[in-house]
Amino acid sequence: MSLRLFVDFDGTITRGDVGNMFFRAFGGAACDELVRRFRAGEISARACFLGEARAMGRVSSGALEEFVDAQEIDPSFNDLVEFCRERGVELLIVSDGIDYYIRRILGRNGCGEVPFLSNVATFLRPGEDGRAEISVAFPHSDAVCDRCACCKRNIMLTASAEEDIIAYVGEGISDRCPVRYADIVFAKDLLQTYCQNENISYYPYAGFHDVVSRLRDLMDRNRLRPRPRAEAERRAAFRHES
Ligand SMILES: [Mg+2]
Repeated sequence: MSLRLFVDFDGTITRGDVGNMFFRAFGGAACDELVRRFRAGEISARACFLGEARAMGRVSSGALEEFVDAQEIDPSFNDLVEFCRERGVELLIVSDGIDYYIRRILGRNGCGEVPFLSNVATFLRPGEDGRAEISVAFPHSDAVCDRCACCKRNIMLTASAEEDIIAYVGEGISDRCPVRYADIVFAKDLLQTYCQNENISYYPYAGFHDVVSRLRDLMDRNRLRPRPRAEAERRAAFRHES
């Protein structure tokens, strides 16, 4: 048995929702309308991303870099990375955001080696003015469910063995589905309300120091246990797939 830790990126590792701000900063009010329609369930996450990328038009790489470099992470994330290294915990960032800014932000904050899976941006037709279009691809989308563009549940279940204990750290809409399948849930902000409404037991956290001290305590007291409802959900998901 080993402990696997999955961590959301936007609003969990970063202070704000970089993905939303990223498109809003360059695509303007059209992106607000797309996000509103996505949150209302009118369009899929993929349609939202494609519309936002279209709204951005041609953007300069310098302006993108400047925007991304102004984003801050929770500095205690590095303590979590260190803790996972010491204790042999498999850490994977799962994000329904874009690889371009995730890679750059992790690299700038000394954690560029932490693996992540997300949607993927490519810069197309760069011009002499340094501007390019952004195209977004979705290598981790689910064949049936389109609520997220990057299916964190599928990633978690594929990456874990049956006897592994799955821990999850998140805060927002794209974390609602994966926490149903996780044994140990760390929730803040809106995800706390969701867990309360769905009767999913969770540990509240403010920063990663809370996550580290809780995991250390659970490991030291040999208290890593599967959560029965999460186990049942995982079994049901596998039955459904096969
Ligand atoms: Mg988030």
